[in-house]
Amino acid sequence: MKGRGEEEEEEEEEEECPGVLPPTPRNSTLSPYTDDTYSDLSPGTDSEAAAEEAAINHELGLSEDHFSKPEESILNMTKENVENNIEKCKALILQCEESTSRRRALVHKLIQLRLRLQEMHDTAEIASTGVLVKMGHHLQPQKPPLTRASKQYCDKCAHIIWGVIHISYVCSLCDYRCHGRCVEDTIRRCASTRVTEDPMYILRICPEVGLASQNYKCAECKRIITNKSAWSEPRRCDYTGLYYCPACHWGSRVVLPARVLHNWDFEERGVSRQAKQFLALMRNKPVLDLEKLNLHLFKFVEELITVKKLREDILLMKRYLGTCRAAQETRMLRQLEERQHFVENSHMYSLQDLVDAESGVLVTYLQKVHQTFSEHIKTSCLVCQGKGYICEICDVSDIIFPFDGGVVVCDGCSTVLHHLCYTNRGSKCPRCVRQEARRRQETTGDRVGVGRR
Ligand SMILES: [Zn+2]
Ligand SMILES: [Zn+2]
Ligand SMILES: [Zn+2]
Ligand SMILES: [Zn+2]
Ligand SMILES: [Zn+2]
Ligand SMILES: [Zn+2]
Repeated sequence: MKGRGEEEEEEEEEEECPGVLPPTPRNSTLSPYTDDTYSDLSPGTDSEAAAEEAAINHELGLSEDHFSKPEESILNMTKENVENNIEKCKALILQCEESTSRRRALVHKLIQLRLRLQEMHDTAEIASTGVLVKMGHHLQPQKPPLTRASKQYCDKCAHIIWGVIHISYVCSLCDYRCHGRCVEDTIRRCASTRVTEDPMYILRICPEVGLASQNYKCAECKRIITNKSAWSEPRRCDYTGLYYCPACHWGSRVVLPARVLHNWDFEERGVSRQAKQFLALMRNKPVLDLEKLNLHLFKFVEELITVKKLREDILLMKRYLGTCRAAQETRMLRQLEERQHFVENSHMYSLQDLVDAESGVLVTYLQKVHQTFSEHIKTSCLVCQGKGYICEICDVSDIIFPFDGGVVVCDGCSTVLHHLCYTNRGSKCPRCVRQEARRRQETTGDRVGVGRR
């Protein structure tokens, strides 16, 4: 039995191996498995299967040399040829004894041929239809790759998609990918529809309910899942806490929002395909109000304390830049374009923000923005400089700004004072004290006036 943790790490551009394909002979290019990992799933011995395949290819006139790719010769066949071979193959299967390796190889060949025929039909159809809409997906026909690009698997049947042979589609919204022949059977709703309807995460850590309460069925496709076979092993999704079959859960690993939020834990864990597509679309959405969800983070995570201060400063600077023509002409605020929410508030975070906060990328990014903005306001722009403050307590002529270090902004009148001056004055703002005194004078003055009349 293969656990999730044992799954092979593929090269970066390759997608995870779903691990549910029917066994194929070793020399067949249809097998996505590395030999040693999955050879125990193949029926009979490899050499036996290879020999059978070679014999069958020879009988059908597909390929003399069993080291070449039989699929390519299938690819070059005319429709008539494929149909003839299907009939031949069927006849051979009937003559064959049951449960022999020859029969299995023949059935496999028959499947390949039938698929090819189906693809030929699909090609004709695509020519007229183009984009297909199914379960909210916008499925665009995929062009065959020019080079031997990364392996891709079908989100519906989990079998490999051979760009050269198969017609396939990819959803322009969520990256769901499937064979042309699998479009009709698609049951997964496009992740983008969920993101539009309810852009919020499950924020309980892996809320598992147990296999029994799922009736031992895959949470998505409802196939029976048991530990009896590797092809139907239940795989837990760390995001939903539910169990999935290997076709719906490929062992993709991602950072989980609930674990980050509650444990500041950025370890990637296994999730279903469905969850992976949803989480990918949500990754940059600023939907996490950290202070409401877990205020403790700001006490323990130093990076977050820095990020929070920088974001608050940047919001204060925005007031200057927003009313400065020079700043608008040079489109200074566009520096925050990739994180639009930083211009709007200082408390909402996307999961990507938190990942970047942890790695230090976010602090560096914000410090750079902070420096550019502050340089404009304090040094290079006379208009902005003119909107600075002079501390009313010490009256030293250096100009201070609300985003400077060591200053306080008065809650009452928004004036800016040196922090030290402010505390020395018993934490009282002189301007507010003055205003308060004037008000008191006016009201007593009024009363005196009334008395005289
Ligand atoms: Zn989609
Ligand atoms: Zn498929
Ligand atoms: Zn499933
Ligand atoms: Zn300015
Ligand atoms: Zn002062
Ligand atoms: Zn004040």
